[in-house]
Amino acid sequence: MPCPICDDTGWKTIELEGVSRVTRCDCWHQRSFESLLKNSRIPRRYVHCELSNFDDHTDSQRRALRLATKLVDQFPVVDRGLLFHGDNGVGKTHLAVALMKETIRRKSARALFFETRDLLKLVRDTYNNQVEATELDVLRPVLEAELLVLDDIGAEKKSQWVEETLGLVVNTRYSERRLTVFTTNLSDADNTEPNSIALQLGLRIRSRLKEMCEWVHIEGPDTRELGPHPTHEDVARWQETSPASPRNRGRSLPSKSAGQARAQLRPRDRDGKADLKWPGGRAGS
Ligand SMILES: [Zn+2]
Repeated sequence: MPCPICDDTGWKTIELEGVSRVTRCDCWHQRSFESLLKNSRIPRRYVHCELSNFDDHTDSQRRALRLATKLVDQFPVVDRGLLFHGDNGVGKTHLAVALMKETIRRKSARALFFETRDLLKLVRDTYNNQVEATELDVLRPVLEAELLVLDDIGAEKKSQWVEETLGLVVNTRYSERRLTVFTTNLSDADNTEPNSIALQLGLRIRSRLKEMCEWVHIEGPDTRELGPHPTHEDVARWQETSPASPRNRGRSLPSKSAGQARAQLRPRDRDGKADLKWPGGRAGS
């Protein structure tokens, strides 16, 4: 059925202060939004995410929502992106997807979503002879998108290749002044902490991320623990009783993996030389 307003020409006539003018029809905007949205690679499980249905129970969630909304309002004249960090289920990805959709809807942005692990896998797959795409075929849209969401950065296994590949993406987008929004479960502790950005991604990437993004720590109840749209009572109970609640964090024992990783990071003995546990040797001796 042709559009009742424009008969599928994509243009409509409007009256502005008594003068007739031609402008894009609503159906054209809708088609353009749908096509940009399709190209943005938002995974199915996040397509429902909007700024309007973000659950904000804590001050940090409300602040994060304000900053996300501000970024959409100011786009494309935005100096710095956002980096949402915090625990699982506090809404980091929801907010990143929601602000991206809103920027596509209101500003027709060419935006792209990637879970970091998926991106690295696609790049790695290009080294396989059976895959025709080159590394650059995969990376070009990532480097050039007007708005990139890189989800869950730092969740992948640490390696020099990972650090170099992510470094290329981060540095290119920084020097081209392109807007990027990151989410991560890692903390902003120093590099003695196993779950820190400094240790997992390296100090150079960390300092780049500081320059190109405002870092926004989000705290809140884990919606995967509480279910979607918890009531105030649910949240209050969660804050009192859950070991994942910031209120109870100090009382709980450190997790096993954190303890192990810390032990590995303490290879120095009293004279400050690392004991590498090789037969016959200490580094530097
Ligand atoms: Zn129309």
